[in-house]
Amino acid sequence: MTIFPLPAFNDNYIWIIQDKDSSGIWAVDPGNADVVLNFCHEYQKTLTGILITHHHKDHTGGVAELKQHSNCPVYGPEHLTELVTHPVDDGDRILVFSKVFTVIATPGHTLDHLCYFSEQETPILLSGDTLFKGGCGRIMEGTHEQMLAAMIKISGLPNDTLIYGTHEYTLANYRFALSLEPNNKDLIESNITCQKLRTEEKPTLPTKLSIEKKTNPFLRSHIEALKIQAAQQLNEIPAENPIAAFSQVRRAKDSFS
Ligand code: ZN
Ligand code: FE
Repeated sequence: MTIFPLPAFNDNYIWIIQDKDSSGIWAVDPGNADVVLNFCHEYQKTLTGILITHHHKDHTGGVAELKQHSNCPVYGPEHLTELVTHPVDDGDRILVFSKVFTVIATPGHTLDHLCYFSEQETPILLSGDTLFKGGCGRIMEGTHEQMLAAMIKISGLPNDTLIYGTHEYTLANYRFALSLEPNNKDLIESNITCQKLRTEEKPTLPTKLSIEKKTNPFLRSHIEALKIQAAQQLNEIPAENPIAAFSQVRRAKDSFS
């Protein structure tokens, strides 16, 4: 199984899952149909399935048109009745080619947000807008408590899990991360690597969970020095409890420029 991105809009990636024994492909969050249809046309592939992480247009906008073309199954949040043929929720299992993906509910960015995890030789997490390299999704519908719970769920996955987020936000995320941890060697190093990738117009994703734990402020809101910096940016006193501390990091990012 290989996974690679098709860029869409300004900074979205439509992840394509391909299997060497099949001429079919799966598309994750196809916000734009043409991007996927053009790929299928050029490489003689047929769309055999779609996974949706959440309802936002940049993740679902192409689904209706793609269904008309290929009539493939669409897995995603239950309430998307117009688009989703196979509603799924936390703990459900889906077969993508021969690999099992488990649904992990991660409300926070939206209330319906789902991630898809597959335990393979190299474990895979399709993280949508929940976890990015160096960042997490904005909390638009859920609570800070829910988003922290999502971060904790993801932190519990195997350290070598490859994480496929939907947006190329890494460099902007790192500017904020470095403002909180200017001396974090792993962060400085990863920032240099990613700057180079971006000048070559290459994706900085997927990322690895072990790297995120060392660099992503939203998986590090328990770290004392980071907490103090986030509170300082907000002109607040550093929070005592984990939810309030996470909230400070998230709100500091929201007002960071
Ligand atoms: Zn979104
Ligand atoms: Fe998005």
